[in-house]
Amino acid sequence: SQVYLNGDYMAPEEAKISPMDRGFLFGDGIYEVIPAYHGKMLGFNAHIERMQQGLAAIEIALDYDVEQWREICETLLSTNPGPNQGIYLHVSRGTDSKRNHAYPSGVAPTVFAFCFTLPGEPSCDADKASSYEVSLEQDRRWQRCNIKSTALLGNVMHYQSGARAGNKETILFNALGEITEASSSNVFIVKEGVIATPPLDTQILPGITRWLILQIVHTHSELRIEERVITKDELLDADEVWITSATKEVGPVLKVDGKQIGQGRPGPMWQRVQSLFSQHKFDY
Ligand code: PLP
Repeated sequence: SQVYLNGDYMAPEEAKISPMDRGFLFGDGIYEVIPAYHGKMLGFNAHIERMQQGLAAIEIALDYDVEQWREICETLLSTNPGPNQGIYLHVSRGTDSKRNHAYPSGVAPTVFAFCFTLPGEPSCDADKASSYEVSLEQDRRWQRCNIKSTALLGNVMHYQSGARAGNKETILFNALGEITEASSSNVFIVKEGVIATPPLDTQILPGITRWLILQIVHTHSELRIEERVITKDELLDADEVWITSATKEVGPVLKVDGKQIGQGRPGPMWQRVQSLFSQHKFDY
């Protein structure tokens, strides 16, 4: 298997960067994760567009266009075995000679990419689905969560506090008691047949899976979906809760802080939306 670093493909152990890289010293960079099944990438253009917006937001000037990214991803997929791959892309501001906070001039960004094996395509069958028990706690990250920054300490700490409680994710709420997202996923609820997810703002990452779900559900007029504020109490009282991400797709949540959600198994709306997602996820 091969990785990509600054224009070259190489064995992972050959890939080396300086400890003076600002990605290492400051977490000064942007990343992406794109899923691919049988060599076919899901939401490729949307993932690249989000990364380019992130790079622009933090003023990293990288001149790779969409076709260059596609070539890197396809080359990596062709050199990495296995039908289910995630592609990780990472751009840091680059390596400087000094550790200064100020953005340096004349420094080339560091570009790194590798593939990793995904567990497989998420199942649409309630008995086989990967389901989640999660923790719930106040969001203590920064105020630019719409930027997919490589500085993930806040997310890592939230995830870990869930893991310590035996859970696989942590859902977060702000100081007003409104749900933001989870440590590495977006959040949806279902109440009385209506699907809802928090609106896009600087408190959450604009998830590509979230966007795909909205596109797909909007083509089915019998399904109702709202982007609106969801309180912590509404989440706990929902018929269904889902967490979504590139690797999870639509992940049913069965317990929040030990409290059962709905019937305690993946719900009928989850089944419907994950099935539609499986059928249409390559259309976008
Ligand atoms: N929110 C956070 C904090 C994430 O890290 C992620 C992805 O890992 C998501 C949401 C979901 O985004 P996507 O659907 O693009 O994977």
